[in-house]
Amino acid sequence: MSDARGGESTRAVHAGGPAATPGNAVVNPIVQSATFHSDLSPDGEVRYTRYGNNPTHERLAERLRALEETEAALAVASGNGAMTIALLSCVQAGDHIVAGEALYGGTLRLLTRELPRLGIETTFVPYGGDWAGAMRPETRVVLVEIPVNPTLRIQDPRPLAALARERGARFIVDATFATPLRFRPAVWGADLIVHSATKYMGGHSDVTAGVVAGRAELVAEAREKLISFGPVLDPHAAWLLERGLKTLAVRLERQDRNAHEVATWLERHAAVARVHYPGLPSHPDHALARELFRSGGGMVSVVVRGGDDAAVRVMSRLRLISAAPSLGGVETLVSMPAMTSHASLSAERRVELGIDAGFLRFSIGIEDAADLIGDLEQALAEGP
Ligand SMILES: *Cc1c(COP(=O)(O)O)cnc(C)c1O
Repeated sequence: MSDARGGESTRAVHAGGPAATPGNAVVNPIVQSATFHSDLSPDGEVRYTRYGNNPTHERLAERLRALEETEAALAVASGNGAMTIALLSCVQAGDHIVAGEALYGGTLRLLTRELPRLGIETTFVPYGGDWAGAMRPETRVVLVEIPVNPTLRIQDPRPLAALARERGARFIVDATFATPLRFRPAVWGADLIVHSATKYMGGHSDVTAGVVAGRAELVAEAREKLISFGPVLDPHAAWLLERGLKTLAVRLERQDRNAHEVATWLERHAAVARVHYPGLPSHPDHALARELFRSGGGMVSVVVRGGDDAAVRVMSRLRLISAAPSLGGVETLVSMPAMTSHASLSAERRVELGIDAGFLRFSIGIEDAADLIGDLEQALAEGP
């Protein structure tokens, strides 16, 4: 395999890549095989694609590990699959989880519908709430999303890491919105890092995948759960993710620059009541973002004046930007949390979570910023 050293853009292109020997392919091939000829020596490894040790998986894992700067990483079939195996590798019946209350819908579903049936309870802590007070002797996991969807609040990981360590729990961070190039949770004490690679890491809205990263023994435990529960990443999808990672650094550079420009423009617009963007001084966690993050990120949330009806009207008038769930791709997408991720909550509860009426979430792509602003300008304009 090629050298995994160098800066992160270099690692994104080269880590886990093929050796530069004459005649060798420049790009790792897809090993589209479910099984492998046996190594019959006494300590020979069993290679089988569901075990996550297809060579395509291993090269991808090396690239992910090099980007996350952890001892190990594992790519699986989806972000939800990654969260499932990460959690199940840490808890058993009778154990308890403490989690931030603002979580991805799929994670919330897992914690409220599935894990209780297995005898695993979760206490949810509001943003800025009493995490220590929520801990029990049987708490095994402290779980948080950084940044939080869709308000892009940033929870300081340091006190949570310290709390988890002191109480013998593991600290898990879902850093999907950040990616390892904007924010590296392991540096701030995360034991396990989970990503939906469907988003920025794949980056083209064409592959569903997830990542678990961390210390080698913890990732090995997660891999045991992968083997048991089976959310393996298909080799072709693994190869697409590897390809996506090569351009991660340049995509993020453009997305973050565009997002900053769009957020700055939106904040001055009369039809916009509020902009949530960690890269702007108006964001409550701007100082923390500057300390922990590389940039303000590629997500921009706004509150349109006139409530949800006005927001729907703006969405329906956009021409270049289209309405779709998900994020992190090269194309700019908009979604309305009240209709998608937070549809099951009452309007009052949404406001408690910071999702005011008229809230729209933009995932900014790599288009020309002027075109994005032009589209927003015509959509926000008064008139029929
Ligand atoms: C999308 C998402 C997930 C789930 O990922 P899938 O790839 O859709 O399974 C988990 N966490 C966050 C923060 C997400 O945005």
